[in-house]
Amino acid sequence: MSETFGNFINNQWVTSDTIITNINPSDTTDIIGQYAQANDAQLNECIESARKALPALRSFPLEARSNALNMIGKELMERAEELGKLLSREEGKPLPEGKGEVYRAGQFFCYYAGEVLRQLGENADSVRPQVEIDIRREPMGVVAVISPWNFPTATASWKIAPALAFGNAVIWKPANLTPASAYMLTDIIQRSGLAQNALQLVMGSGSHLGHQLVSDKRIDAVSFTGSYEVGVSIAQAASANLTKFQLELGSKNALMVLEDADIDSAVSAAVVGGYSGTGQKCTASSRLVIHKKIYDAFLDKLTTALSQLTVGNALDPNTKMGPVVSKSQLDHNMQWVEKAQNEGANLVYGGKTLTCKDEGYYMAPTLFTDTHNKMTCNREEIFAPLCTIQTIDTYEEGLHIVNDTDYGLVAGLFTRSLAKATHFRRSVETGCVTINLPTAGTDYHVPFGGRKNSSFGSREQGKAAHEFYTQVKTSYIHSQF
Ligand code: NAP
Ligand code: MG
Repeated sequence: MSETFGNFINNQWVTSDTIITNINPSDTTDIIGQYAQANDAQLNECIESARKALPALRSFPLEARSNALNMIGKELMERAEELGKLLSREEGKPLPEGKGEVYRAGQFFCYYAGEVLRQLGENADSVRPQVEIDIRREPMGVVAVISPWNFPTATASWKIAPALAFGNAVIWKPANLTPASAYMLTDIIQRSGLAQNALQLVMGSGSHLGHQLVSDKRIDAVSFTGSYEVGVSIAQAASANLTKFQLELGSKNALMVLEDADIDSAVSAAVVGGYSGTGQKCTASSRLVIHKKIYDAFLDKLTTALSQLTVGNALDPNTKMGPVVSKSQLDHNMQWVEKAQNEGANLVYGGKTLTCKDEGYYMAPTLFTDTHNKMTCNREEIFAPLCTIQTIDTYEEGLHIVNDTDYGLVAGLFTRSLAKATHFRRSVETGCVTINLPTAGTDYHVPFGGRKNSSFGSREQGKAAHEFYTQVKTSYIHSQF
């Protein structure tokens, strides 16, 4: 029997009557551990403790807060190998990606350790004589953080770090598919010397525990990353209480390659953008929009690259692409392969499950050609190592296809033309744009987020996070001299 890990509520690790088993998707005989599911009474205690902690969190000395965030960041970076291995073991991304994610999570904490000391307000003279105005930001209060499994440590960190930096109490509900990463991050944060109940961890199903959390009137703000459908239900629950919320949701990002592009770099970007993380990235370029003049060469090089993408156990050093995260995700992906074929897409690579040394949820990198933008495989987020190609005669035609989507997270272009690159940057209806780079891979000190159905609310990361995790207070002071 493997170890049982609890939730962190009111400064204690507590277990419960219900536990889930965390399975390694690369090797389903490998049980990572048992994880307690918080019950309703525990959630209530958690919210009460968070509310009681607010005065202490708000007045917690800035330098001590900054030092604590730095300590968390440094520990994550120092233990990136060990924690990355655990992340890869439970989520299925190859070890270099798991390690890179934990390191990046550390960078978020170190960045916000600096932001703690850059909380500057404004002041103004009033239109009334002898009256001065002080404008400052205060913490939101109790913030619920709900995170997905695909970047279990990074998404949570880019929310938790600014929330703590600006003096909030955080209640974190991670995805049930990746509880081990959540447990480890909570362990590091609770040892950092922040005020008690700065962060509490409640694991449990999204549809029950997550829903209870975001529907509770005692929550001041909800930061969510996950699917569009769940995002809409969270928006409804939060709106009913007029709770502030921000959503980072799904996508259907396009990568356009023009006739003057460096084809080898474009192919590498298509592989990184479409198949790293087994295609399970909100920034994945699942729609490839390719100029007809270079199509044959591009397709030839891309299928060759896919044939070299060794699929296997995430912890095997030869692995270039790990398994899909779960059995249900694998089943869903295989249904999409069938659906794409039924609507006329031409399967040129993969499209099948794979048998590897260990028993796991393995799928071949998959590529469809001869698609058009009305097909559902080009409209709905699939979240799989599955890309489609559409061909174009002109840049204008390509731009139309790139923007013809309900989503708006990232768009990418490969070209040597400065004029087209500039036009593209200014014309795409997305929150992020990449030129001669993969769509996946963003920095941590600048805003991140999308448009249309990909996002709602203020931007995350960098300085932009002040907006969500704080609220403005305007004070009028009469000097009465
Ligand atoms: P998901 O199914 O929407 O789940 C996300 C989180 O919400 C999980 O913790 C889940 O808990 C919880 N949840 C589910 N139903 C809920 C409800 N009714 N109320 C409150 N919480 C609820 O998404 P996922 O499958 O984990 O992640 C994949 C999705 O995330 C993709 O659509 C991807 O594009 C998106 N994503 C977006 C970004 C971005 O920044 N735009 C980044 C990464 C991922 P359980 O899973 O434990 O049930
Ligand atoms: Mg899910």
